[in-house]
Amino acid sequence: MPKDTVAFIGLGMMGMPMARCLARAGYPLLLRDMDEGRTNALCTELGARPLESDSAGEAGALITMLPNSDIVEEVLMAQGWADRLPQGATIIDMSSSVPTRSRTLAAALAEKGLGYLDAPVSGGVKKAEEGALAILVGGAPDLMERWQSLLGAMGGSTLHIGEAGAGHAAKALNNYVSACGLMATVEALHVAERFGIAPEAMTKVLNASSGRTNTSENKVAQFMLNGTFASGFSLKLMDKDLSIAAELARDLSYPMQLGEHGIALWHRIAEGVDVGADHTEMYALMAQEG
Ligand code: NAD
Repeated sequence: MPKDTVAFIGLGMMGMPMARCLARAGYPLLLRDMDEGRTNALCTELGARPLESDSAGEAGALITMLPNSDIVEEVLMAQGWADRLPQGATIIDMSSSVPTRSRTLAAALAEKGLGYLDAPVSGGVKKAEEGALAILVGGAPDLMERWQSLLGAMGGSTLHIGEAGAGHAAKALNNYVSACGLMATVEALHVAERFGIAPEAMTKVLNASSGRTNTSENKVAQFMLNGTFASGFSLKLMDKDLSIAAELARDLSYPMQLGEHGIALWHRIAEGVDVGADHTEMYALMAQEG
């Protein structure tokens, strides 16, 4: 059976390798990014076509991999890309968006005769390149089933979390835990160094012991101690995710007593960095805190 044509908007650090996975799996692609040069280069590389007003009607699914909910809503609703899709098409928002806004968006799209899944991802650029992301899906189970192969081309695991918005809620909470783990790891490394324990040695301790985190295993040696700070996930995007988690907790009247301080620290540091700063730069930036 021929594969559905897939429209893909947002060809950044994550979107580009994800689109490459879909091309490898044989999906005909219609690509779009506000950076036209990037769109054209990827179309040439993958033998894909740019997503245009007159080609959008061919798409069975439209994937968004954009910075935040404001931009997802602008692209789908204000710019009219949702209206250009055929009836019965599915919009899959793989960005890390605001869960309550995703619910509202799902209802608005249903009125237009379009399906909606939120399917944010975890694993970063490396797993995106390998097609091994963890994909966290919110929405109707039968709709997820319908697009299982498509998601499987980008993901190592696809977890159904709950109704529309549940994937985005789970993603924000995951990144809250991840950021707190990063900050705790970085603080431990700086204190250890002041006591005369080299960060390399302290990292080995953590990785051999119960204090190991995703940061100690996959970020400290790879991106922090060597000063490359090139994980491909920006400090400001993580800051956005922490704001989503904090807002969710507030909306649900559950105070994050531990997280309150960590999130405030991340916000303060994020205010002072360039938009391109990598989140692993927290290692250097937190050294200046002490
Ligand atoms: P990015 O900034 O590298 O890419 C975003 C892309 O969207 C850019 O190419 C940009 O030009 C494009 N864009 C912005 N506004 C647009 C518009 N109005 N129309 C069309 N294109 C537009 O970001 P990223 O790191 O790829 O992250 C994308 C999403 O995935 C974010 O929600 C982020 O939180 C999430 N995420 C990122 C990572 C990571 O490791 N980088 C991991 C998991 C989830």
